[in-house]
Amino acid sequence: MFADKDISKFNNIETPFYYYDTDLLQKTLHTCADAAAPYQFHIHYALKANFNPVLLNQVKEIGFGADCVSAGEVRRAVEVGFDNKKIVFAGVGKSDKEINEALDLDIFCFNVESIQELEVLNELAVKKGKTAQVAIRINPNVDAHTHHNITTGLDENKFGINSWDLPECADTLKASPNLKFIGIHFHIGSQITNLDVYKNLCVRVNEFAAWFEDKGFKLQVLNVGGGLGIDYYNPDHQIPDFGSYFKIFNEFLTIKPGQEVHFELGRALVGQSASLITRVLYIKNGKKKNFVVLDAGMTELMRPALYQAYHKIENLSRISNLRSQTPIKYDIVGPICESTDCFGKEVEQPESFRGDIFAIRSAGAYGEVMASKYNLRDAIRSVYSYEI
Ligand SMILES: *Cc1c(COP(=O)(O)O)cnc(C)c1O
Repeated sequence: MFADKDISKFNNIETPFYYYDTDLLQKTLHTCADAAAPYQFHIHYALKANFNPVLLNQVKEIGFGADCVSAGEVRRAVEVGFDNKKIVFAGVGKSDKEINEALDLDIFCFNVESIQELEVLNELAVKKGKTAQVAIRINPNVDAHTHHNITTGLDENKFGINSWDLPECADTLKASPNLKFIGIHFHIGSQITNLDVYKNLCVRVNEFAAWFEDKGFKLQVLNVGGGLGIDYYNPDHQIPDFGSYFKIFNEFLTIKPGQEVHFELGRALVGQSASLITRVLYIKNGKKKNFVVLDAGMTELMRPALYQAYHKIENLSRISNLRSQTPIKYDIVGPICESTDCFGKEVEQPESFRGDIFAIRSAGAYGEVMASKYNLRDAIRSVYSYEI
């Protein structure tokens, strides 16, 4: 991903910053759109993965819809120019204020996560004299085989409506004049790399769809969520296999004539398109450990501290030394006053020095959006490939 010209230009830019490869992003978005087109699948981009304005604009231009998990995201999607009829709103805890705001913006669909939420949504829609389109988010109890902190579709997770509550849910839908029930929704977790998981999901979706149709409901939408993973170990192997992913749904989902299949992809669309660029402040060689202390930490990229996430780390200033030297094992840490502020332990690198530029790769998803002001750090900046 990094040409020598980039690296020499990085030297003159104040660190740390997120570096966005907008060409790669464009290629990834197109690859996904082209893979979905033969099946007429609908893609909604999950804003929570990254709402950087330049990136959002590129996603909107491709024609994708938006998957939002707060009123703030719904508002942002509308401001950026996403079609409000392509905006869906999920979330286990939507406040009355958020629901009212989304009703005013006439979004496509509320993905509702509890029976009580259905009741509240109906009440608020009645007050406004509006009809809200709803999909029921069902917890299908399918194991996503991913990190336990990013699994969402098991009985023990807080998300969605459990299967045993569906009869009551169906009654509530029937008794809610200002709700229009359009479909069922699922999202079972993130960073899913085993595509068999999606076959299991399809089987469950078919069962739930049949259950609702038995009860006399017509389903316009099957929304299967997102979660497709990226290869954090090989960031230069950049574009996820959207072809195989969509093929599974085409093969294993029972799709009725006129029925739409919706997806909500976040990470897979944007994850590889950014790196966190940071400079070495200090090298500390200890008896037991060698430390590289960077000028970026968990305040800029929280994933390693939050869920022990792996990111490939490269010393861009010494790439040419990589093969010629015996590597040294370093703990690569940030400046924040927390022991979990560590990007990697015992990571092999060429001998590194103060001032070296490091890249923390695959940081386009759940990176910039999770940046915090902890320790009263300066806001993280962004640099785009077309600028330098
Ligand atoms: C986070 C989220 C997504 C996107 O997940 P990725 O793993 O980034 O693809 C999709 N749908 C819902 C409801 C989400 O909360």
